[in-house]
Amino acid sequence: MKPVLSRRDAIKNLAMAAGVVALKVAPDARAAELPHLNPTDPVAMALAYHENAQTVSAKDFPTYKAGQKCATCAQVKGADSDAWRPCNLFPQKAVNANGWCKVWVKKS
Ligand code: SF4
Repeated sequence: MKPVLSRRDAIKNLAMAAGVVALKVAPDARAAELPHLNPTDPVAMALAYHENAQTVSAKDFPTYKAGQKCATCAQVKGADSDAWRPCNLFPQKAVNANGWCKVWVKKS
């Protein structure tokens, strides 16, 4: 009688399961390792990135409205609880969840 699950099939299934777990864990693990975006970075400066949205001058940046911050922006990724999170506009960098830039768009 043939075994229900051969050793080869079992190893193959374990490898696939490990791959799925790695895919689910990797984004958050990498997010924590990303360097923080420096506000003096040329692209950050061009987009008026501030590490703390509360320091944004509404006079200098009329599109800014109180309460806007990276954590509520459609471009931010990662876990809601993280203080620093990946942003679609700044690959390989993490932005401050309390930050802001001119591209802010309300997360739906
Ligand atoms: Fe923050 Fe959004 Fe600007 Fe990214 S695009 S830096 S999440 S406000």
